Amino acid sequence: MNTLRALVRARMPALYLMRETKAQRQTRTEQIVKLLKRAHPDAHCALNHSNAFELLVATILSAQCTDERVNIVTADLFRKYRQPGDYLKVPATELQQDIHTTGFFRNKTKSIQGACKMLTEEFGGQVPQTMEELLKLPGVARKTANVVLGVAFGIASGIVVDTHVSRLSQRLHLTRQRDPGKIEQELMELVPRKDWIIFSHLLIFHGRRVCKARRPLCEECVVEKLCPSSMLKTGKIPN
Ligand code: SF4
Repeated sequence: MNTLRALVRARMPALYLMRETKAQRQTRTEQIVKLLKRAHPDAHCALNHSNAFELLVATILSAQCTDERVNIVTADLFRKYRQPGDYLKVPATELQQDIHTTGFFRNKTKSIQGACKMLTEEFGGQVPQTMEELLKLPGVARKTANVVLGVAFGIASGIVVDTHVSRLSQRLHLTRQRDPGKIEQELMELVPRKDWIIFSHLLIFHGRRVCKARRPLCEECVVEKLCPSSMLKTGKIPN
């Protein structure tokens, strides 16, 4: 009996999601964005930087690391290395030492020095402003490119999907996908383009403050009435 009940509970969000039309989901998404903007007017990129190049380096360092830790490391790093060429003047072991507390420091060193080499040789030392060009840089995938384009240049070329965006999009039943690339594609169909950049910041702030990974604070959540996960918890699934 318990197994049956668990099965029914597990299937209900899927049934709810199947009944919701795409237009309804788009409307629900717009309402969610509106409420989250009100709840988190301070939502912004938490990685400290003063230009696009620093943001690129900080975003590479942020893989599998907290923004707080990256900010501690970059406070010294950005004083020592100001231009792409500066990262190429030191041996890899020195840069590894400078960034080792962010984890995966060998791979990150390879990515940063590889990106700096390409920036110097192919882009005149400047960070390019298109997705296509950014994806050519070693260690840069869509997430990093979206962060740089959106935050540094205000260009909405996609939606940043990190662990918070991924978790909240699933809890809010905006997607059933697990792969970040597929999640991004589905979100781009739901979120108005003018909100692509702020959307990630909103979900990241909401994820840190309210919809926490282990224990979401649904009772304090401004989008509770629009969230199928909460409806499921309270038994209030709409007809
Ligand atoms: S209602 Fe709960 S599960 Fe849904 S977004 Fe809010 S905190 Fe997360």
